[in-house]
Amino acid sequence: MTTLLIHNAHTVATQDDHRSELKNASIYIRDNRIEAIGPAAAMPPEALQADEVIDARQHLVTPGLVNTHHHMYQSLTRAIPSVQNAELFGWLQGLYPLWAGLTPEMIHVSTQVAMAELLLSGCTTSSDHLYIYPNGVRLDDSIEAARAIGMRFVATRGSMSVGQSKGGLPPDRVAEDEDFILKDTQRVIETHHDGSFGAMTHVAVAPCSPFSVSRDLMRLSAELARRYQVRLHTHLAENDHDLAYSREKFGCTPTQYAQDLGWLGHDVWHAHCVKLDDEGISLFAATRTGVAHCPCSNMRLASGIAPIRRMLDAGVPVGLGVDGCASNDAAHMVNEARQALLLARVGRAMQPAEERTLPSGERKTFFGCDLGPAEMTARDVLHMATRGGAEVLGRKDIGSLQVGMCADLVLFDLQTLSFAGGAVHDPVGALLLCGSPQTDYTVVNGKVVVRQGQLATVDLGPLVERHNALALLLCGN
Ligand code: ZN
Repeated sequence: MTTLLIHNAHTVATQDDHRSELKNASIYIRDNRIEAIGPAAAMPPEALQADEVIDARQHLVTPGLVNTHHHMYQSLTRAIPSVQNAELFGWLQGLYPLWAGLTPEMIHVSTQVAMAELLLSGCTTSSDHLYIYPNGVRLDDSIEAARAIGMRFVATRGSMSVGQSKGGLPPDRVAEDEDFILKDTQRVIETHHDGSFGAMTHVAVAPCSPFSVSRDLMRLSAELARRYQVRLHTHLAENDHDLAYSREKFGCTPTQYAQDLGWLGHDVWHAHCVKLDDEGISLFAATRTGVAHCPCSNMRLASGIAPIRRMLDAGVPVGLGVDGCASNDAAHMVNEARQALLLARVGRAMQPAEERTLPSGERKTFFGCDLGPAEMTARDVLHMATRGGAEVLGRKDIGSLQVGMCADLVLFDLQTLSFAGGAVHDPVGALLLCGSPQTDYTVVNGKVVVRQGQLATVDLGPLVERHNALALLLCGN
């Protein structure tokens, strides 16, 4: 048994059902669970004798942030000059030939680099969508990397089976055989998926996208996932080319395609959904289908502005995703939440003016900018990055700081530069509105993984050095 006390925190943003924010509060952790949370004086008597006590008088504590969409191997191909200014399809076609050279070591090292960046930016649970398996690469490579660094992980067995010769986007040499995809997916579920409370490893089934796998594989993947009671994940309605492909190849919208193949439901989450129409939003809400909102990637690739406020108002579960390292090209979870806030406001300001009737009966014209700032608040995006992400990943054990929940939490030092002048007024507002900080402490499943701003589980210097050598090797240098 190990115990940990977060002692007398300046502010704890619990993300409980009331979004309670506690002042001068402590959190007592036994093994991997929160045993007590509340005023420092109300902690159990043994709390002050905990194995480790972290003095949190100058810290903001939040639940660990949850990243719902990523492609960690892409950290090897960040900022490649030839695709810096491409939209989604051109960007993919420029990168597929490079990714064909990935090796198991590259997956292991790039996964740890991506996870280091996430852990240091407040993320404690991440999914990863690995959909390319050349040269003996296996999903096990990234699962082993996650275990070694200490991150809670939702590994998704992605796939591509429709190459260019069959009308798909990827080159044939990175497409896999569909029977093998299904067999290997079954193998990784049976080997690694843990459905218990507090599990550190989930596996989900994740054909890459409608433009790189067949209808049959989509349908059979859904059947396989439901047989094993694991989740389903893919990309959907990312940009206008994606919509056009769906109309041309399948004669329907991406949402109709998903519905037809059994890809709507509380056990499904789709990345992006930038181009979800009103019918799509209603169907997602009615079926509790989740969305991974990736604002930086959507801006980077000029995909568009996802209608997140309308999704939330309709009742669609929405979490945040940093998306792949090569289309962001960062993986900072607090910054992703900040960008979600900013992008929603830009989106509102771009809406046409509306005539509205005031309570007095007077008619008034409202421009988008009149409603823009209220479109998305700092607390809305913090909620999306914690509770929202947990719901999208089907987790009831993370996302909020309450008794009985898993001890996944992060501490931000309010005395650092990015909080100067902001934390004295509103620490939670300052976290999302000021420059995005790194964590002082990151605790995953009761274990301190970042201590005093340093990764405690992996030596970052040699990791980055090896990663950079592999990045050059992969790109033929
Ligand atoms: Zn993606």
